[in-house]
Amino acid sequence: MDLKSNEPFWLLKNGLVTSYPSLKSDEECDVLIIGGGITGSLVAHQMIKDGYKTIIIDKREICNGSTSATTSMLQYEIDVPLYELIELIGEKGAAESYKACSKSIDDLEKLTKEVKSRAGFKRKQSLYFASKKKDVSWLIKEYETRKKAGFEVSWLEPKEIEEKFTLHNTYGGILSKQGASIDAFKFAHELLRFNEKKGLKIFDKTEMKSVKYLKGYNFALTEHGFNIKAKKIIYCVGYESTSLIKEHFVDLKSTFATVSEIDVDIFKNIENTMVWNTDDPYIYMRTTDDNRLLIGGGDEDFVNPEKRDDLLNKKEKEILRTLKRIKPDLKFYTDFVWAGTFGETKDGLPYIGEHEKFKNSYFVLGFGGNGITFSVTGMEMASAFMKNKKHLLSEYFKFGR
Ligand SMILES: Cc1cc2nc3c(=O)[nH]c(=O)nc-3n(C[C@H](O)[C@H](O)[C@H](O)COP(=O)(O)OP(=O)(O)OC[C@H]3O[C@@H](n4cnc5c(N)ncnc54)[C@H](O)[C@@H]3O)c2cc1C
Repeated sequence: MDLKSNEPFWLLKNGLVTSYPSLKSDEECDVLIIGGGITGSLVAHQMIKDGYKTIIIDKREICNGSTSATTSMLQYEIDVPLYELIELIGEKGAAESYKACSKSIDDLEKLTKEVKSRAGFKRKQSLYFASKKKDVSWLIKEYETRKKAGFEVSWLEPKEIEEKFTLHNTYGGILSKQGASIDAFKFAHELLRFNEKKGLKIFDKTEMKSVKYLKGYNFALTEHGFNIKAKKIIYCVGYESTSLIKEHFVDLKSTFATVSEIDVDIFKNIENTMVWNTDDPYIYMRTTDDNRLLIGGGDEDFVNPEKRDDLLNKKEKEILRTLKRIKPDLKFYTDFVWAGTFGETKDGLPYIGEHEKFKNSYFVLGFGGNGITFSVTGMEMASAFMKNKKHLLSEYFKFGR
């Protein structure tokens, strides 16, 4: 599956950061990670830290899947509001899922320091505003639920939003203290390079074709005919997991993003804030560390990559019309527009854990608008699984829930 159109901003901004060799001999390891995007890179970091002999492979160039298309907002807020998630899975699971995303942001900050990252991690607050009058009542309910659960939130009236952020035509919103943004493409590359020096073996342009699940270990056959014998496999294959796993567990969506030209004054008063709204599908925006405004949204059901990419012009106009409504005076000069595929689950939560059809293996699949923060939680969960320990969230993130 083609996961993105051909011009995601991060890929152009960073270029080809590092190229790794393809696999040219048989190998043996404790842990084989399939998928070298942000998820595989984070999980590889954890496995190396835990002392496992680890190999990571990717069928593309490293980080050329969804990780090159992501807009990398790091939010504790899940696509499904907390009060709705409580109705779906109960108070404990819902609050712990939100708290896990919040902790992931703190963990990511520590990680960026550990690897001396230059991927622009920046702490930001988050504004979730009502775009229609009818959304105000449930958004206030959401605000009260989050406050009760201990999150640092405040309610802003439309006038306050206008004064603080010069955003017009809103109906009030929740301002949250916790949040951040990063260049996930660059950061994944940094993580891999850091761990390569600690023994991680990295092979790109190496597709896993099939796996024999034997007693106590697996035998992965790669595209050029070489085998990797691994005690455990961790699948970090992103949305292409839909071609591995038979049952329906995620709805694929096409999503769109655009960044402006560099402009030091552009939206100065949201440079420390991520903004998203209650539209369905929602739009979201943030500034980048090179002074651009990045806006995304316009999600539609995914049909195929061609249909997705045909919508680029139409979606750009749609997104910019929404921007005009809230920011009528802003002159937005588009530099790049791109499309990507992402997945939505029934409860906004990821799938992290075992699957009965894949022995000696785990999946770490961070879906939805919190894909990256879920992948950070996936590091901690994979580490626990490897030690045969349960994780508090296993029950809520498991297949067949
Ligand atoms: C436009 C857009 C905006 C987004 N915005 C946000 C956001 O603001 N915040 C957020 O948290 N998330 C966001 N997401 C989601 C986030 O980008 C994803 O959750 C994340 O990139 C997934 O990373 P990954 O490593 O799991 O998947 P990928 O980056 O797709 O990596 C999976 C890798 O597996 C490899 N692979 C697959 N099958 C095989 C095989 N058989 N053999 C070898 N390799 C294989 C692929 O080549 C691929 O490189 C967004 C997504 C998109 C598209």
